[in-house]
This record gives sequence, structure tokens and C-alpha cells, in this order.
Amino acid sequence: MRKKRIVILGAGYGGLRTLKKLQESHPNADIVIINKNDYHCETTSLHEVAAGTTNAEKICYPISCVIDKKQTVFVQDTVLRVDREEKKVILKQRGPVAYDFLLISLGFESETFGIQGIEDYALAISDIPSVQRIRHHIETQFARWAEDHKDERLTIVVGGAGFTSLEFLGEVTERLPELIRRYDVNGSKVRVVCIESTVLPMFDRKLAGYGTSRLRARGVEFVPGRVNRVLPNHVYYKSGEELHVIHAGTFVWGGGVRGSSVIAASGFEQQRGRVQVNGDLTVPGYPDILIIGDCSAIIDPGCGRPYPTTAQIAMQQADYAAYNLKALVDGRDLKAFVYKSKGTVCSLGGNDAVGQVMGRNLRGYPAFFMKKVIENRSLVKIGGVETMLRKGRFGFSK
Ligand code: FAD
Repeated sequence: MRKKRIVILGAGYGGLRTLKKLQESHPNADIVIINKNDYHCETTSLHEVAAGTTNAEKICYPISCVIDKKQTVFVQDTVLRVDREEKKVILKQRGPVAYDFLLISLGFESETFGIQGIEDYALAISDIPSVQRIRHHIETQFARWAEDHKDERLTIVVGGAGFTSLEFLGEVTERLPELIRRYDVNGSKVRVVCIESTVLPMFDRKLAGYGTSRLRARGVEFVPGRVNRVLPNHVYYKSGEELHVIHAGTFVWGGGVRGSSVIAASGFEQQRGRVQVNGDLTVPGYPDILIIGDCSAIIDPGCGRPYPTTAQIAMQQADYAAYNLKALVDGRDLKAFVYKSKGTVCSLGGNDAVGQVMGRNLRGYPAFFMKKVIENRSLVKIGGVETMLRKGRFGFSK
């Protein structure tokens, strides 16, 4: 009898952790994992590459580290859509890949909310090429200032004040002294501005206030408002009813994310690229498809809204997904996913951070230390101890 085939889309936190756990359980099935790159990226550290305080190699490792070739085939290609009726995955370069059971964990894309100009003129923190673009763009702006002294080149505006934005602001303020020295720039002309409606909305106001005050002390200007429109070197924002403009050579949009566009292209019922999955992570009406990570939405019974999308939840879902995929192959009952929040820490650059861990508010070095523990733990959970020893974060050096 033909072996069943499990296909995993995406080799990020959700997909690769599922693969690791699934391989450990030796299912009676062939496994295929499809990803557009041949490396796994520690997305939670992308802001460091964007600011230029870390290199891309430091936050990536080969997918092959996790693959057991006896059980799994890796296909490097871009997924265009899923044909749910034919049970096939349609790829950009190769022919369709048929599945018996499918796991979708294709992560996030930047959400523009329809704001004019974001798509064309904003820089986003979403993957390795996008953050390398940001680093290169900022360095080019500083280098060109020496030629034409256009001060707007030295203004960096960040839209949104959630996790990604604050982490980027923290890192970029760490990098500025080096940029100022290297390009012989007049430091008093450099501006870093954050246009925000609510800083760190996931934290209590005292913690959020700590984050703001630390970044303010490093020169970040917080401007209350909402980005309204973006043009080359112009960021328009509304504060109340008034429209303002900032002339800026760099605009980084951190205002929000949505699930992969593959979800909408495949005709799933979705909101902003996220499918509200059943308790066992299957898609309503499609018991052979599971969705996890940023493409899934699970309602928090505490508040009736979906849990925020995080690497933490993606990896916890992955453990259930691995169990449930094996159960599907064996014809057993599936387990319902239960989320156990371990807390969240937002880095603020240097040895500073702010967060809530196990119900405790942390700030400064203890929060920074916890951040490193969390990062190293995720490296072990997916890449294994060897990967953690090669790529891990052990304190101040990057
Ligand atoms: P990902 O880990 O993003 O993986 C998706 C995979 O799919 C990638 O390998 C990608 O290459 C691949 N892929 C995408 N599209 C295609 C396609 N069409 N075809 C083929 N392959 C494709 N979360 C936390 O818990 N803690 C944090 O501190 C934290 N900090 C963050 C900081 C930043 C700067 C950012 C951007 C995010 C942060 N997050 C954090 C959120 C976290 O990174 C995401 O929630 C997490 O990456 C989601 O995991 P995932 O498995 O759904 O997708």
C-alpha cells in the first residue's frame, strides 16, 4: 500500500519545529517540507540585521540541520497556492506536490492597512532581503549626506510602536554612534522619530512607559498620531484632525502584520491572512489541513480575541501539530491545542529590555537576560544544542 504523504509548508518556527517533532515520532508516512529559502531565519532577531548590529548569517541556519533524509524530502520553492479540492500544492517553479495531510505555517507579511504609499515607499522588517535593504538604505543615506548635506537623509521615521518597531528603534539608536563616526556626519542633525498611537499595547502602561522613557533618553522622538500617507522622503501623519508631514530619508513601517498571502490565494475563509482554526488546529471543513503560526487565529477564551501572533505560540502549536499529523496517519483522535503563555520580552537595544515573564514584570538587565534565555531556548527546540552553541546569544557580543 502507498505510504501517506505529509506536506509541511514553511520552515519557520512553526514548520521546522513540527518537522523536528514529527521525525522523532517516526510516522508511517513520507514527509515533504517546502520553503522558499534553504535556511531557517530567527525572525525574532530581524530588527538587529535591519539596524546593522548583527549580520544575517548570525540569525540563520541551514534547514538541512533539522532534516532526517530517511524520512523527509526538502523542496526549495515558493508556494503560490493550495488546491484544497485536488489536494495539491502549487509551486512557482516545480510541478504540483500532492498531499494526504497538509500543514501550513507560512508566517506573516507586512500589513499596509490600505495606507497610500506604504507598499511603494516604506521599508518593512519581514525577511532577510527586506532587512538587508533597510541596513543598506540607512547607510547609503548617511554616506550621501556627506555629498549634498540634505538633512532629511539623516531622519529615520518608524511608523507604529508595537514590538517590532520598538525593538528596531532600540537597535538603531545603538548603531547610530558608529554610523555618525564612519560617515563623518554632524550628529546633531540625526533624528529618529516614532509615529505612534499606543506604545507597546500588549504591556501594562508602566512597562510601556519604561520602554518609551529609555528610548527617549537615547534621542527617539515619540510623536502621537497615525501614518496617513507616504511619498518619497515625505511621511504624512494625522494627529487628531490635523495633518502633519516629516521629511525623512528613511521610513520603516512596523504598523502591523497579516498572515501569508497564500492563505487568501487558496480561497480559505480568512481575515487578514489568518484562518480561525478548530481546537485541534485543523481547518473547518478540511480535516486533512492544519494551520499554525501567524497564518492561524486561535481565540483567547479570556478576552474573546485571537492570541497575538508570536514565535512562542507557533512553536507550542507545532508540538500539537506534530502529534495530530501522526494521529491522522494512524487514524487516531487528535488533541486540542492549549496555549500556555510564558510571557514576552521586548528588547530595547544594548543590555536593556522590558517584558512580562511568568506573570512578573521585568525591566533592564533582568529582562535582557530573559530575552537571551528565550532566544537560546528556541534555537535548541528547533535546531538542537549544536545550533544553539554556534548561533546562540550569550550576553553582550553579537
Ligand atoms: P515564520 O517563522 O515567519 O516562518 C515562515 C516560513 O515560511 C519562513 O521560513 C519563510 O521563508 C517561509 N515562506 C513564507 N512564504 C513562503 C512561500 N510563499 N513559499 C515558501 N516558503 C514561504 N515573537 C515572539 O514570540 N517573541 C519575540 O520576541 C518576537 N520578536 C519579533 C521581532 C521581530 C522584528 C519580528 C518581525 C517578529 C517577532 N516575533 C516575536 C513574531 C514572530 O517572529 C512570528 O510570530 C513567528 O515568526 C511566526 O512563526 P511562523 O512559523 O508562523 O512563521
